[in-house]
Amino acid sequence: MSSHTDQSAVTVLGLGPMGRSLAGAFLDAGLRTTIWNRTPGRDQELVSRGAVSARSAEEAVAASGLTVVCVVNYDAVDAILRREAVADALKGHTVVNLTADTPDRARDTAAWAAEHGVRYLDGAIMTPITTIGTPAAVFIHSGPEELYREHRPVLDVLGGNHTHLGEEIGRAAAYDIALLDIFWTAMAGYAHALAVAKAEGVTARELAPLAKGIGSMMPTLFEQLAEGVDSGNYFGEANPMTSTASTMTHIVHTSEAHGIDASVMRAAEGWARRAIGRGYGADGFIRVAEFLGR
Ligand code: NDP
Repeated sequence: MSSHTDQSAVTVLGLGPMGRSLAGAFLDAGLRTTIWNRTPGRDQELVSRGAVSARSAEEAVAASGLTVVCVVNYDAVDAILRREAVADALKGHTVVNLTADTPDRARDTAAWAAEHGVRYLDGAIMTPITTIGTPAAVFIHSGPEELYREHRPVLDVLGGNHTHLGEEIGRAAAYDIALLDIFWTAMAGYAHALAVAKAEGVTARELAPLAKGIGSMMPTLFEQLAEGVDSGNYFGEANPMTSTASTMTHIVHTSEAHGIDASVMRAAEGWARRAIGRGYGADGFIRVAEFLGR
């Protein structure tokens, strides 16, 4: 068994594409890396590179002071960690959970960890597996700052940028959800745009250069609008909600004329129309963020 302050050993639970990438980066950095996965056989390439394959999750977590968990969701995390033998082996050790799920699940796992004497940090990975171990990787973390500082040297081995977002354990998951909301809503928009373009005889390749132009507008807008939203200025002069709603209606009509489901755009148009109905027609579209939750 390794001392819980030993920075030269790490355990990785979960050998999906991401878990394997994390373990590979630890191995590349020369750390004694113990691995375990529910389904056997996913460890072979890592073992050939020097990883130690544990026979059970309890054996795996006992081997290192720090265990990184990266599986599909927190149901899988619970299935692995919430067994007596594993909890006993983890007592006094640290778990860094890089599995994606909701802020509430992060809080619930932290409460379980506290009850069982397990030191716990939550986190999320914001970039694909190809970035792991490179400067392009992005990791966010939350939980006790001192614990984060203690394990930061080992986490740094994973490359890229690590940000501690605060002690509230659900914070990394909250950022993760908000950022994934942007990403997948944008991807839904792109998939829909490709369907509409195709129906009008425009290929994906033809659209792509101009689509890139639309995408490149977003980073500046995120910053400008964030300032406005926090100070209550919704910047409607250049593009009022009334104009936005009209544009959205054109997208809905064109889609539906081709028999293409326009429900995502209909929902967004509905928000804009609601805002106009409440007297915000002269504001920018981003005003809807203020009353969506009410
Ligand atoms: P998956 O999300 O498909 O997770 C696969 C892993 O989960 C495998 O180890 C699998 O084990 C395990 N698992 C699933 N169900 C259970 C269960 N009931 N009990 C125990 N283990 C289970 O693949 P990734 O590795 O890609 O993703 C892992 C995490 O990383 C996810 O939360 C994902 O959102 C996040 N992530 C992934 C990125 C990527 O590019 N892949 C990017 C950023 C974040 P088994 O082999 O036995 O099925």
